[in-house]
Amino acid sequence: MTTTFRNFIAGRWIRPSTGAYHENRNPANIRDLIGRFPDSGPEDVEAAVRSAETGFRIWSRVPAPARGDVLRRVGDLLSERKEMIARAMTREMGKVLTETRGDVQEGIDTAYYAASEGRRLFGHTVPSELRSKWAMSFRRPIGVVGLITPFNFPMAIPTWKMFPALLCGNAVILKPSEDVPHTAHLLVEALLDAGLPPEVIQLVHGSGSKVGKALIEHPAVPVISFTGSTATGAVIGETCGRMHKRLSLEMGGKNAMIVMDDADLDLALDGVLWGAFGTTGQRCTATSRLLLHRKIHDRFLRRLEDAAGKLHLGDGRKDGTEVGPLIHEEARDKVERYVGIGREEGLELVTGGSRPRSPKLRNGWFYRPTIFAGARPGSRLAREEIFGPVLTVLRFSGFEEAVRINNGVPYGLSSALYTRDTNLAFRAMQELDNGITYVNAPTIGAEAHLPFGGVKQTGNGHREGGWEVYEFYSETKVCYVDYSGVLQRAQIDNVDNGG
Ligand code: NAD
Repeated sequence: MTTTFRNFIAGRWIRPSTGAYHENRNPANIRDLIGRFPDSGPEDVEAAVRSAETGFRIWSRVPAPARGDVLRRVGDLLSERKEMIARAMTREMGKVLTETRGDVQEGIDTAYYAASEGRRLFGHTVPSELRSKWAMSFRRPIGVVGLITPFNFPMAIPTWKMFPALLCGNAVILKPSEDVPHTAHLLVEALLDAGLPPEVIQLVHGSGSKVGKALIEHPAVPVISFTGSTATGAVIGETCGRMHKRLSLEMGGKNAMIVMDDADLDLALDGVLWGAFGTTGQRCTATSRLLLHRKIHDRFLRRLEDAAGKLHLGDGRKDGTEVGPLIHEEARDKVERYVGIGREEGLELVTGGSRPRSPKLRNGWFYRPTIFAGARPGSRLAREEIFGPVLTVLRFSGFEEAVRINNGVPYGLSSALYTRDTNLAFRAMQELDNGITYVNAPTIGAEAHLPFGGVKQTGNGHREGGWEVYEFYSETKVCYVDYSGVLQRAQIDNVDNGG
């Protein structure tokens, strides 16, 4: 029997006003139907906003340490349910179980970090320039926050946004990717079981063009946080700019790993396999460009060809699977389009470049790990985000050239340098134009207590994670208390030499 899921609006699991649903299927085997999820419309968003306004009135008055206690219980519940959620996530998203366990763990880490932040949430107390005057700043909640999330980290990304937003005292409306609605359902269940007042969280399933759009355009949702493609982010940015909304955008990447001639090549090989083909290349931080020093280029490429060709494709829930499917047919079509472009541009196809032949993989959106060599910095495969298991290799002659190639794309999320030269490692930290640089580790692997995000067309200056995200979800207020008993005028009466 097919399970039909519901939205969570106004404290209840309810059917969408549209009466419409979409099917959620396992991308490793599309015969496996996970369930039917609401295809909601603007009326559902309207109901969610009305309820969230009530939620905001309740929750913003709860002291921050008590809000943190709820998030600690959420962390405990996610820990208890980790294996169950990871299995459900692999079933709907395709990445292998070790990765989905990591995805849930990121949510757990984020919950505990948020819980501890409840007892800090610092403002500043600073000296006033005038006598007998107190000056301080503190943080206030903002209101109803709209969250729009992508498919590739179904737990980590919603929690990166939701937990800090809640800790700061806001009410939240989550519009998850229509490709991973089940994980969002399990997350909201954990929040409710942990004792979050039900009006504080709303879950509205559906498409970006209907639910996402209605959320962004709603005048009573002053804060929007979006993670997804740069193209979608541009559309959202226009609306939010026009409506003067606070907006956080986390978007695409074209991340490079640079391997110098003195690098530990065994380490670099493990790193590039994990960075390029983990999550089937569907990570914003995926290693999609490999820059090889000319002295080790041929040697390293031969080893990489051999190792990539042996990666085991399959259902991510089965032991031994190293690479799962792509998320859906359009994603695989896009990969195939880019493989065609690579051939047209005259790049050398090193391995992959086709669907796997095994009949066992026939019902899933699988594609063989693919490597193109001989690219130039201007090649489309070296500039555009493909979001699949396609790695483009470029040759360079010196560190400065590698930096120029790394920096010469419109994106700026993540980069990696493999070297034993400490001086180069420190130069890389300064000169690589990205939000994150790894030394002797691949381009992926964020930790919850550090800020995450990118420069240029990857973002708009905000960060997820770490302390920085709390700035985004709170309003800073300043309060001055003058206890001198006389009128003191700032910038005028402060010319005080102590006399
Ligand atoms: P996407 O842009 O297609 O969709 C993301 C979300 O936006 C989905 O929930 C979708 O329904 C919604 N949406 C689509 N059109 C909309 C509209 N007009 N108005 C409002 N909402 C709309 O992205 P995706 O395919 O789910 O994810 C892949 C992309 O996400 C890649 O580009 C990847 O680099 C990026 N990503 C970035 C980060 C980061 O932190 N920088 C992290 C993960 C993924």
